Amino acid sequence: MEKTKEEIIKDMQEVIYQMKLDDITENPESEFELFPCSACAKDAPLAGSIQYSKYRLCNNCVLLYELALKLKKVKNIEEYMQKTEDLRLQTMCDFIKQDKLKENN
Ligand SMILES: [Zn+2]
Repeated sequence: MEKTKEEIIKDMQEVIYQMKLDDITENPESEFELFPCSACAKDAPLAGSIQYSKYRLCNNCVLLYELALKLKKVKNIEEYMQKTEDLRLQTMCDFIKQDKLKENN
């Protein structure tokens, strides 16, 4: 029987989360070491992150990317990066707004 979309998402969540736990077991520091995620532009822990060609994705984005692949929304990491460009712009705009707010205070 074919898995439903919900089942696919649930399975994938468990797999990706387990990867993060494995990373933390192997290197406890990776939970607190941050890097700028190529996909969401946020600072994220190294634990559970994955390098895809020249991009490093945080654990959340790995899940979204793997799901996008599995559900055939994108063909590869380059396409995923293109589709998520708006998201990164949004995040950057939020940072700028927050900086402006801080300046005003
Ligand atoms: Zn991310």
